[in-house]
Amino acid sequence: MYFNKENSFYHGIMFHHFHDEKIHSKSQGSISRDEFYKIIKHIGLENILNANEFYLRLKDNKLENKKVCITFDDCIKAQIDVALPVLEDLKIKAFFFVYTSLFDNEPDFLEIYRHFRSNYFNNIDDFYKEFFKLLDKDFKTFLKDNNKFIENKKSKFPFYSTNDINFRLIRDSLLSKEEYKKIMLIMFKEKKFEPKKYYSNLFFSEKDINQLNSLEHIVGLHSHSHHTMFENLSYEEQKNEYIKCMKKISEIISKPQSHIKVMSHPCGSYNHDTLKILKNLGIDLGFKASMHVEKDRGMKKINNSTLEIARKDHSEIIKMIK
Ligand SMILES: [Zn+2]
Repeated sequence: MYFNKENSFYHGIMFHHFHDEKIHSKSQGSISRDEFYKIIKHIGLENILNANEFYLRLKDNKLENKKVCITFDDCIKAQIDVALPVLEDLKIKAFFFVYTSLFDNEPDFLEIYRHFRSNYFNNIDDFYKEFFKLLDKDFKTFLKDNNKFIENKKSKFPFYSTNDINFRLIRDSLLSKEEYKKIMLIMFKEKKFEPKKYYSNLFFSEKDINQLNSLEHIVGLHSHSHHTMFENLSYEEQKNEYIKCMKKISEIISKPQSHIKVMSHPCGSYNHDTLKILKNLGIDLGFKASMHVEKDRGMKKINNSTLEIARKDHSEIIKMIK
């Protein structure tokens, strides 16, 4: 029923955050074990291919339009604790895309910020209030100047509050990454929050990767340092990102680098250079983060190349069910 309503092309379903009653608290967009079961039921087990089967059929040009696969990005520990038992129960093998700076003890701070926002404040608006207080830039004029953009976002994403939109705009456009981090570190201090204490609750360990591999899920590349604007990096920088990632994953799973054939683009960001680099590294299958034909990337059709396979975010499927 999921497909009769709309898509007539194969693609991935993209998952990120999960919550439970124990260590993984609810956060924006996270889903529970039961919701995960519901989503899979809605898609229909008969439409979901195991990761390896999806890969092989795509390679042999035998993938049917109705087929999908399940994918996870970003090494988020709740995927192991909440989603993996469901996958094993339903005998579904999935793709897990892994960035590797994490194993140099440099995880993506976006996850840390997210954990902090959703656990150290009564509600998200309390967080925004504190955050705006610490801004030493004239953000009110900035917001006024961007009024059109904000109104447009509101109509496109009705589930975002005005504060959600203002915060994201300030974070991504008014502040540099360093300026943003500086404010966040001040807030961490005020709340006596020590990020390192939470690494093991928030992120995969090498052991988790090994477990996924031995359970026959497929571990793929997601770059080394998970840049949010990967397409802005130079050719050499991009190449290093994927070489490092490939080397580390192959070390962890004790398989030759040529064993790794799949990837997903961090934050859906890539350009012509990226595709060339991936091809040279022997990658056959790559996923992007949206279901759109992105003309500005030179895409002419959906699933433009085998390194640009579309994915639907689970949040959109949840909306169909409710
Ligand atoms: Zn990612």
